[in-house]
Amino acid sequence: SNFSNTSRVKHKIIFLGDQHVGKTCIIERFMYDVFDEKPHPTVGVDFLAKTLHIDDKSIRLSLWDTAGQERFRSLIPSYLRDATCAVIVFDVTNKESFSNVDRWIKDYKDNRGSEAPCVLVANKIDLKLTREVQLADLEKKAKENNMKFYEISAKTGENVANMFKDMAISLQPVE
Ligand code: GDP
Ligand code: MG
Repeated sequence: SNFSNTSRVKHKIIFLGDQHVGKTCIIERFMYDVFDEKPHPTVGVDFLAKTLHIDDKSIRLSLWDTAGQERFRSLIPSYLRDATCAVIVFDVTNKESFSNVDRWIKDYKDNRGSEAPCVLVANKIDLKLTREVQLADLEKKAKENNMKFYEISAKTGENVANMFKDMAISLQPVE
């Protein structure tokens, strides 16, 4: 209402990254606190939203889940238009998904400008025995690209809520 001191902001967050890295599972963990071993493959682009209440702020996050497949890649630019932030996800057990992060960053920045905010997310850290991408590699890539990074597991939920909260409070709304 007009009498409330609550500030309201909205962020449009777009998830990018190769197929199977866990984008859909991360969003489902955050939205519903569940983990589905066999999520339906994302076709094109999906949309979900959740409002966080942090201190006296109400922060609405609209989450845009994309399909990493090549045949859907051309769809993505139209969804990037008014994004506040891109979450670029890779799978720590898949080196190729980590190498491809460079391409996802480039696609995003070509579209939104070199200063556009994006964060790097290392998913599946529960899979300790088959991990191929180490913290040092991740830190290096994040530093080179001036990105914040988070190590998370959609499966166990480790660090997922914290990541969304941190993004919610650190992003600047786009007018
Ligand atoms: P997307 O294509 O990037 O949306 O990936 P999905 O969310 O569909 O997940 C791909 C596969 O990885 C599924 O079989 C998930 O069960 C699995 N997966 C996703 N996140 C995790 C995680 O944190 N740990 C483990 N062990 N498996 C995960
Ligand atoms: Mg998906």
